[in-house]
Amino acid sequence: MSHTIVLGGGICGLAAGSRLAASGERVTVLEAQEFVGGLAATLRGATGAGFDFGPHAYHARNERVLALFKELAADGFPARAKNVRIKFRGRFFKYPLEALDMARSMSPVIALRAFMDYFAEILRKRIAPRRLTSAEDWVVGAMGRTLYAMFFGPYTEKVWGVHPSRLAASFAQHRIPHISLMKVVLSSLRKGYAKRTGTEHRYAPLVIELFYPPKGAGLISDRLAERIRAAGGAVHTGTLVTGIDLDEGRVSGVRFRRVISTADPARGQLGMLANGREGVSAVNGLPWSQLGPEERIAGDQIVNTLPLPVLFELLGDASRPEARTAAQALRFRPISILGLRVRRSRCLPAQSIYFQDKTFTRLSETRNYGGTEICGPDETVLLCDITCDLNGPIWNATADELARIIGPELAAEGFLAIDEIAEAVVLRSTMGYPVYLVGYEAAIDTLMHELGRFEDIVTGGRQGLYKYVDMDIASEMGLAMADHLLSGSTKAAAIGAVPYEDRVFA
Ligand SMILES: Cc1cc2nc3c(=O)[nH]c(=O)nc-3n(C[C@H](O)[C@H](O)[C@H](O)COP(=O)(O)OP(=O)(O)OC[C@H]3O[C@@H](n4cnc5c(N)ncnc54)[C@H](O)[C@@H]3O)c2cc1C
Repeated sequence: MSHTIVLGGGICGLAAGSRLAASGERVTVLEAQEFVGGLAATLRGATGAGFDFGPHAYHARNERVLALFKELAADGFPARAKNVRIKFRGRFFKYPLEALDMARSMSPVIALRAFMDYFAEILRKRIAPRRLTSAEDWVVGAMGRTLYAMFFGPYTEKVWGVHPSRLAASFAQHRIPHISLMKVVLSSLRKGYAKRTGTEHRYAPLVIELFYPPKGAGLISDRLAERIRAAGGAVHTGTLVTGIDLDEGRVSGVRFRRVISTADPARGQLGMLANGREGVSAVNGLPWSQLGPEERIAGDQIVNTLPLPVLFELLGDASRPEARTAAQALRFRPISILGLRVRRSRCLPAQSIYFQDKTFTRLSETRNYGGTEICGPDETVLLCDITCDLNGPIWNATADELARIIGPELAAEGFLAIDEIAEAVVLRSTMGYPVYLVGYEAAIDTLMHELGRFEDIVTGGRQGLYKYVDMDIASEMGLAMADHLLSGSTKAAAIGAVPYEDRVFA
């Protein structure tokens, strides 16, 4: 029987492992952290309250995956309508920002300027069309510079840590909703009219179903891991993968080191996702990735969910130099999540709120997603997403230091009183978001081509395929990788003609 080693015990690796184990395959999952679930884990604070890596509600885009989630969380997986807002210029708007919402924030004068900008862009496209290389090119071309400078430019730079001129146009195309300038202008003018006549605009809320297990998002991953173990598979936590061994191009084993927990109670850190290549010293200044001797496990198939550039480092000389160079062009944006347990039964008027002018970019309340048992009934859990630089001031701050900065920002919004903060914790990941820099598509082409040479290694997931996906898609990727290995077909047959954008594994 073949032995499949799954690198990474996030929801993608666990979905792959459980599908393989349920089919009678020998499976071993290797996870660096002491907990499973990766970004989809729920970590527990001092009183047992649950903290996620930012909001983690389950979407329902794939029937097979939704059925699996419902089966795993049969004791409770309620659906709620999506209620996410943007706080912009002192007012709440629905998310994603739409033409009518933009119009509400603009005076007719600014709307006119936006229209002239937009018109100038149309003319420019006619007279001297140019290639849209960056996210900035794309947004300015689609909406004009006024709208870009008002919201999209500053927000994108804050979240991704690079100027939008350095982000690929395809990033904007996929992540930024296309707003019709004509609608914005007309709505804004109508708003001016409405003010005079007293008839305000009304529009139906965006209703999308989201699911959340009352005890925390991590329940799904915990139960996937239980399924693997129950079917005879192994899930090893605290096990950092350090190398892949090949024998004449075929997988023969995986090297790893036992690592200590990244929880650091003195700093309020519940955990830190890291891949061992970043040089982060996790706790007490110890080189986290280099503790313990290197050990080895034999195996003949690999499901990778570790970051794509890390996969190429693990392969070492087995991959061609041009692939290793291409892999270095891929970057991840780290994230720190400040979690607050607050002595109030509810703080926010929405599930999540995006901000442009705060230390954090998004604020969420787990209870509002359906996490009704995440903490005691007279308390609530708030999560503040802060994208940041590795080893920068946010990354190095303790949970209490972050709470001292962010607490007053929340109090100023009226969401809480400082003395209601009962506990502050921080969760971190060096791999929060894949950054789609200009030119990344060429690097991806090289890597996808190179991966075709390794028949018994498949890669998928948010990190492993370098795609900005959610938990349902990451799980779908895991199932697809397992299906492929079970099918016995070749990679060329399974994905040869599938473009990168549509791939669920490579
Ligand atoms: C702030 C934030 C909010 C989000 N909110 C939502 C949401 O509301 N809904 C939603 O559906 N999705 C959400 N997502 C996306 C979701 O978290 C991911 O799509 C999903 O969890 C990815 O799963 P994965 O298994 O592919 O990757 P990961 O969860 O990153 O798993 C990779 C695993 O590999 C492990 N690993 C790394 N290096 C090594 C190594 N060398 N050796 C061993 N193990 C290693 C890591 O510890 C990790 O467990 C959010 C993401 C972020 C960052």
